[in-house]
Amino acid sequence: MENISRVAGRVQEIQARLNPPPAGSHGSFAQILDSAAPSTPMSRDSHAAMHAMPLGTLFGPNGPIPVAPTTFEAVDAYLHANGLSERNGHLETHELVEVSGGWYGTARLLPPAAHAWESMRAAAAQDGIDLYAVDTYRSYEAQAHAHEEYLAGRKDAYVAPPGHSEHGYGLAVDVTNGSPVGPGDREWEWLTENATRFGWYPISNESWHWEYRD
Ligand SMILES: [Zn+2]
Repeated sequence: MENISRVAGRVQEIQARLNPPPAGSHGSFAQILDSAAPSTPMSRDSHAAMHAMPLGTLFGPNGPIPVAPTTFEAVDAYLHANGLSERNGHLETHELVEVSGGWYGTARLLPPAAHAWESMRAAAAQDGIDLYAVDTYRSYEAQAHAHEEYLAGRKDAYVAPPGHSEHGYGLAVDVTNGSPVGPGDREWEWLTENATRFGWYPISNESWHWEYRD
C-alpha cells in the first residue's frame, strides 16, 4: 500500500502541473492544450489514476495525436530501489548520467531516462534532426530560483515549486534549437511523431518540455 500512495502522490503532483495557475502570457500551444485539458478529475487512490495517467493531448503537425496512457511504475521502482524517491532536486552527480545534446555542455539525467534520451537522439539524427536540451536535471536550489523568478513575473511559462518538478529527478528535458521548440519547428514535429516510442511524453502545456516514462 505504501507503493500505491507513493505513486498516487506523484500522479497528483503531475496533475497539478497539467493544470497550472495562469502564467500571464500563454503561447498558442498552451492555448490549444488548455482548450483540450482533461475534464475528468483524478482520484488519488484510484487504480485508474495509477495505471492510466492521462497526458496532455499531443498536437502534431497534422492535428491531434492520441497519446497512449502510461504509468510511472518502472521509474518509481527505480527511484525507490535506489533511495531517490524522496530526494527531488537532491540527487548526487554519480546517481545521474551525463548525456549528449546539452545545449550548454553538461547535461545529466536519471539512468533510465538517459538511455532513452540517447536512443531518441540517435534516431532523430538519422532523420536529420539534432535534438538539444537546454535543461535536464535541475537541483532543488535551481528550481527554487526559477520558481521565484516565475512568482516575480519574470517567466513566461509556469515553473513548478522546488520538489515538484520532474527535472528534480532527472526525468525531464527542455528541448531547444536556440529557442524552446514548439509548433512549426522541425524538432518539435519530429518529437510529436516519434518521442513516445522512446518513452518521452509531452506532460505539461509547454511544447518544449518532455518527460520520461516507462
Ligand atoms: Zn521543463
